[in-house]
Amino acid sequence: MRIELVNTGDELLLGDTINTNAAWIGQRIAALGLMVARQTIVSDGPVIKDAIAEAAARSDVVLVSGGLGPTNDDLTRESAAEILGLPLVQDPGITAHLEAFFAKRNRVMVASNLRQAMVPAGALVLDNPWGTAPGLYFPAELSHACGWNAHIFLLPGPPRELKPMMENLVEPRLRELLPDGASRRVLYLKITGVGESDIVEKVEKKLEAVPGLTLGYCIRQGDVDVRLSGQSEPVETGAAIVREHLGPCIVSEDRRMIEEVLVQTLADRGQWLSTAESCTGGFMASRITDVSGASRVFGHGIVTYANEAKQRHLGVSAQLLEQHGAVSEPVAAAMAEGVLAVSGADHALAITGIAGPTGGSEDKPVGTVFIGLASKGSATVVRRFFYPGSRDRFKLLSSQAALEMLRRRLFELPLA
Ligand code: ATP
Ligand code: MG
Repeated sequence: MRIELVNTGDELLLGDTINTNAAWIGQRIAALGLMVARQTIVSDGPVIKDAIAEAAARSDVVLVSGGLGPTNDDLTRESAAEILGLPLVQDPGITAHLEAFFAKRNRVMVASNLRQAMVPAGALVLDNPWGTAPGLYFPAELSHACGWNAHIFLLPGPPRELKPMMENLVEPRLRELLPDGASRRVLYLKITGVGESDIVEKVEKKLEAVPGLTLGYCIRQGDVDVRLSGQSEPVETGAAIVREHLGPCIVSEDRRMIEEVLVQTLADRGQWLSTAESCTGGFMASRITDVSGASRVFGHGIVTYANEAKQRHLGVSAQLLEQHGAVSEPVAAAMAEGVLAVSGADHALAITGIAGPTGGSEDKPVGTVFIGLASKGSATVVRRFFYPGSRDRFKLLSSQAALEMLRRRLFELPLA
């Protein structure tokens, strides 16, 4: 099934609004085991007609977002009616919804709001309890007169209105349109600590050999989602292959990020984590505290950027700093053990490295990072990594590697 997306709005082209609808819809469609074939962004205005017509001519489904509101730059409804040659008829149900919407908010309805009650003959109304603009669905028959066979959906621009409409009213119809829609499954295996090319090497050929399995990747910095879609059986076969060859690297099978997995696991075990960060400046603590429920497992995250801070707050000795330098294995270990002692936590992660672009040396070039993991009752371990590149990327990959060290300890997996 070929699906195209048309997003309308000058604000998207001007860069004032980020096209989050496109990203979100792309993910929803991927979760159906499909992929949006093309996205088009067009200005508010007559060009919407061209965009819808072009997409409808080559697609089975066209999703359009934006331009359903009451203002005179909101032309999507009229554009679709015009290209399909459908007259607009006032819909009593929408009229009543609009009247009630305004009455409830003590606002007066003006004539332009009534434009939203105009429905192209034959189109089905998609209710919008979260706003005034209803969506519209044009079944494929309505496009036959133009020589097309496209189901066209018009959705409101505001994400909080579009999302529930998509989930509750559009996706069930898309599933009906798919021959095997209802029983289709999508599984995401989130992999960390191995490069994309290693993943390809280890499993791609084997997965491609499974009949009825569609394989996709979503590659981010730090992890890769392997997406398996199809009927239950090939998806399960595929998942078994990934588990067999990449098992210890699978962080989650439900799209949870590593920090979510850690917070959940620590909470289940009643354990606490603390962190000491130098070059990542608190980025790892920030990731942990992005997870709701972090307060049950995370009490201390100390940023010790200067040597003096490492000494004062973590008890790292001046001699150790002097002898090995702040970016070194012994200092990473001392930082982790220091914050473990100060906080009384069960586990502590410490990061010290050279983010650059300055400060590198021959044996410790920019991008070098040491990560320490100390846990009550276990030997402290330190690993050295190398992440040259931008400071952003350095922080992300360093924190990812640290979180992965803890994940491996919690699940008793061998350290990479
Ligand atoms: P309204 O009744 O609010 O006018 P509408 O259906 O006419 O709704 P637009 O006027 O196109 O929608 O957009 C309204 C607002 O929704 C935009 O100002 C923007 O904040 C948001 N929006 C629109 N399109 C997108 C998009 N593709 N991604 C994210 N936000 C969007
Ligand atoms: Mg609008």
